[in-house]
Amino acid sequence: MSIAIAIDGPAGAGKSTISKAAAKRLGFIYIDTGALYRTVGLAASREGVDPGDAAAVDELLGKIKVGLAFNEKGEQIVLLNGEDVSGLIRTPEASMMASKISAVPAVRAFLLDLQRNMADTDNVIMDGRDIGTVILPNAKVKIFLTAAPEARAKRRYDELIEKGMDVKYEDILEDVKQRDYNDMHRDIAPLKQADDAILADTTEIDLEGSIDLIVKIIEENA
Ligand code: C5P
Repeated sequence: MSIAIAIDGPAGAGKSTISKAAAKRLGFIYIDTGALYRTVGLAASREGVDPGDAAAVDELLGKIKVGLAFNEKGEQIVLLNGEDVSGLIRTPEASMMASKISAVPAVRAFLLDLQRNMADTDNVIMDGRDIGTVILPNAKVKIFLTAAPEARAKRRYDELIEKGMDVKYEDILEDVKQRDYNDMHRDIAPLKQADDAILADTTEIDLEGSIDLIVKIIEENA
């Protein structure tokens, strides 16, 4: 039987960096589910589809294929109709589009099996918003990873500046708060801590410390 670890939490809590590092240490496969919503968001942007137009979103879903694969370094890549769009989905615009389109029930249904199938065969650490509550309710360990909005905005700001992007801290903080609101207030699969999830708050903990904490929680509970 494969082991599944669910890590949920708000945007910018360091979920992907921490989960990736923890998976490496523990020999698990890391799956970033946000990349799937970002990919659907990118497809919508390209086709000029408004996330609020359910019929148009439905039509779009009929035309696209979203897939996950792993490159030679073992890193996840995400495919839109066979095209590697892993780099294209990392802009602030793609983040906001993903946040909006992920509230559409048809989009969540479209991505459900893809996520569940990955956890069927392999030991996985899967991160997202509803992994412990909806996608893998029987996950062996559930962690709710969070940090204060200001700390999360600062981390994302540093990351984007590092990549050479021209962004303002205030805009990123506003985005973080807007995405928190969208993620927590949508009708379907809202972001919330599962009853049986362990809370990990990294506001005051650096990256290495956060990775140690998550690995410890997994080792003690898996
Ligand atoms: O985690 P990431 O920031 O890449 O996710 C992008 C967006 O996709 C989030 O703002 C959220 O709205 C959505 N998402 C989701 N469910 C998941 C993962 C991401 O709704 N499991």
